[in-house]
Formats: sequence, C-alpha cells, structure tokens
Amino acid sequence: MTAVDDRPLKLPWHDPMWAHMAAGLAAGRVAHGLLIAGTPGVGKRRFAWRLVAALLCRERTADGDACGVCAGCRQRAAATHPDISRLTPEDTGKAIKVAQVRRFSHALHLTPQYSTGRIGWIDPADSLSTSAANSLLKTLEEPPAGCHIVLISDRVSALLPTIRSRCQIWTVPAAAPDTARAWLAGQDFDASRADDDSLRTPLALRARHDAGAQPLVEQWDKDLGRLLARRANPVSVAERAHEAERRLWVDWLYRRCNDLLLAALGADSPSLDAGLAGAARRLGPRRLEAWSRRVSDVARTAETNADWRLVVESVFIELSQYVAEAIDTP
Ligand SMILES: [Zn+2]
Repeated sequence: MTAVDDRPLKLPWHDPMWAHMAAGLAAGRVAHGLLIAGTPGVGKRRFAWRLVAALLCRERTADGDACGVCAGCRQRAAATHPDISRLTPEDTGKAIKVAQVRRFSHALHLTPQYSTGRIGWIDPADSLSTSAANSLLKTLEEPPAGCHIVLISDRVSALLPTIRSRCQIWTVPAAAPDTARAWLAGQDFDASRADDDSLRTPLALRARHDAGAQPLVEQWDKDLGRLLARRANPVSVAERAHEAERRLWVDWLYRRCNDLLLAALGADSPSLDAGLAGAARRLGPRRLEAWSRRVSDVARTAETNADWRLVVESVFIELSQYVAEAIDTP
C-alpha cells in the first residue's frame, strides 16, 4: 500500500467520520477488527491508511493524525515498517488462500518491534476464499494484544457473516457534490462538467479522467441510447465495449444501470440525457431491476471471467429483450 502513502490521506468528506475515529484513538478505544467499507472511489484505503498511520505513531496531532516525523511514521512512509503484515491475493483478481492466512496469523502473533503494536491489512477482504475466511476467524476473534486488523472491502455483502460480526464496520460515505467539486478544484482538476452522481465518488471520477476515459464513456452512452431506441444491435454494441479496460467499462455500466433505474422510478437522474431518461421510464423499474441483477453478476466476475466478450454481449442482449418486451407489453 505504499502507493496510498504519497497521496493526501485527509479527504474533506471523511471529516465527520474521522472525528469519531480520532475520539476513539484519543481514548485508546479503537476496535481490534475494523472493516472499512464503501463504494469504489470514496477513498476507503486512504481512510484506512490514515488510521494505520495514526495507530503506528507515538506523537499524534490534536486531530488524531500521525505526526509524520517520529521513527514509526518514517518507517511507515518508507514502506519498511516491521509491524505491518499484509494479506492480499497473490495474483490480481484471485482468491486469498488458507496458507496465506496461516502465515499472516503467525506474523501477527510475533512480538512487535514498536510498542504501538502490530497491524494486519487485508485487502480486499472479499477475496478471502470461504476456507481462508474460516481460518481467519480465530485471529479476528482474539487478536494478539495491541494488534489491529484492518479489512478493506467495497462488497461487504460478499463477506461471511462470521467475519462481519467480528469487525466494527466503518462505511466511508460518498462525497457531497459541492465538497467534491471544491476538493477536485484544489487538485487542479476541472470538475465543472461532471455530474453530481460522478462527483459522489471523486477518486473514481479522477481515475477515469486520468485513464483518458471520457471519449469512451461518451461512445458507450451513445451506443446505449441507440440500443434503447432499437437503432443498434446488441452484438455490435458489445463489439466496441468488450475491448475496453474491464473495470472502467463495468464501472460505467454499473452507474448507468443505477441511473436508468432511478429514472424509471421517477427520481432525478442528472447524468442521463432526456433520451435515456425517457427510455428508462418506458422500460419501467421491474425490467430494470431484473437487468441490474445481471449487471451486478457481471461486475462481480469482471476480473476473472474468461469469456468476457460473451458476457458483454449477453448484458446487451438481455437489455434489448427487455426493450422489445416493453414495446409489446408496456
Ligand atoms: Zn509519528
């Protein structure tokens, strides 16, 4: 997690939640198992790393933050802190295995080099296989004295209930659009054209921009509009989509599906143009809810699915079937 370290860890929309955490730190009452949850792009890892930094610091500031200069802080910043153990998939998108959990638990039981205690970092916690999660339970239930275990996940529902129940859950909130706009402006990022929905996950917004995603998103929106108007066929729409970076496309799909559902329910959905919003109302919430279940499945398997092109096609074929059905039986 060294990559997190050189970026600002304090994000203004975290302030109220951090104030609670800082009170816990000051009172020495921070839970020993902490699950940091939240939608992708709200800054879960920054919040979690800010906490880890504070836990490993001997001279915290009045706000509960790490001082940045003590020996513990310097070792953490240099990614050489001896008391941090990480549990992450060996390969991106793969499960965390039982043998890894055993090594991790063993490391947490070694005597820490600093009096601040050991830190266990599990990221993403939803990649624990069922047997790996089960073998973690005992350590999570009775961690060694002074040890804190921090789990990160944006899919808390995918965690075993027995894992969830042993953690204190901190859900990092989405940003208020105005707060995000001001923060992004301070980062030399022009968010004046961004819609409120994207602004709620400012880090995802910036990452998409950094990846040069805007032209792609515009193309996908256009294709989606044509598909909903029955002016494009699902296979040719999928043809363009399946070659893009998966996470980027899935992120777009997930948000658009949500936007369409909101519009169908009669709610405001500012990131949709009038054409898409009208199409969503014609489809209706029942069909869009059914489609959103498919979209969630796709999002879950995006990193691992080998038949990606077929998956992308099936998403659009299913949607176009709902469009046809809505015309036959409005
Ligand atoms: Zn310090």
